[in-house]
Amino acid sequence: MGKILLLLVLALVVVAWFRARARREEIDEAASRGQSPAAAPRQVAPEQMVSCAQCGLNLPASEAVFDAGGVAYCGAPHLEAARARQAR
Ligand SMILES: [Zn+2]
Repeated sequence: MGKILLLLVLALVVVAWFRARARREEIDEAASRGQSPAAAPRQVAPEQMVSCAQCGLNLPASEAVFDAGGVAYCGAPHLEAARARQAR
């Protein structure tokens, strides 16, 4: 019975050691990427939202279409519409 307990404790120590090592490697990896350990957990930064200058629709900046002046539109049709309106 004592032997089993000893094995159990040993197993827990090994698991704890592996976990600590994994955590350390994660922090090292984050540091090598120039991030602070606090920001290490894989987290996507909240994306900037922009609104279409034509219809006012809010959408992520990565999905928006921008004209030469940096004005955001929800898509090419509204970018074209705005261009046509400005050309007049
Ligand atoms: Zn739009």
